[in-house]
Amino acid sequence: MNEPTIFTKIINREIPSEIVFENERIIVIKTIQPQAPVHLLGITKEPFSSIRELLADEGNKDLLWELYSRLNIIAEEQGIAETGFRLSTNIGKDGGQTIPHFHVHLTGGAPLGLHTEK
Ligand code: AMP
Repeated sequence: MNEPTIFTKIINREIPSEIVFENERIIVIKTIQPQAPVHLLGITKEPFSSIRELLADEGNKDLLWELYSRLNIIAEEQGIAETGFRLSTNIGKDGGQTIPHFHVHLTGGAPLGLHTEK
C-alpha cells in the first residue's frame, strides 16, 4: 500500500480543509495556496496517482464526467461561469504535480494569464 496522500487524509478527516462539495466518489475543497480569486480542487476519492492512471481504465469514464460536470456546476454557483474559468490537471514532475492523487484545479474570478512561467 502506498502512503495515504494529503487528500486521502482530508477525505478521512485526519486533516482539516474547507469542503465545498462531497459525495461518495468525489470531494471539492478550497486550496490552501490560491492562485486566483476562486481556486478549488476537485478530487476523486479513489487515489489515482494522476489522470493517466484513471484513463487507463475505460470503466472510470463516468467518474471523470461526474467530477468535471460538478466543477462546472460549482463554477456557476461561484459566479465565474460567465466570465470564464479554467479546469486543469497537472501530471507528473514537469507538469507541476505536487500531490500524487488525481485532482482538477478550478480557477477563475480574474484573468488568469497564460502558462508561460519558467
Ligand atoms: P498540484 O501541484 O497540481 O499537485 O496541486 C496541489 C494543490 O494542493 C495545490 O493547489 C496546493 O495548494 C494544494 N494543497 C496542498 N496541501 C493542501 C491542504 N492541506 N489543503 C488544501 N489544499 C492543499
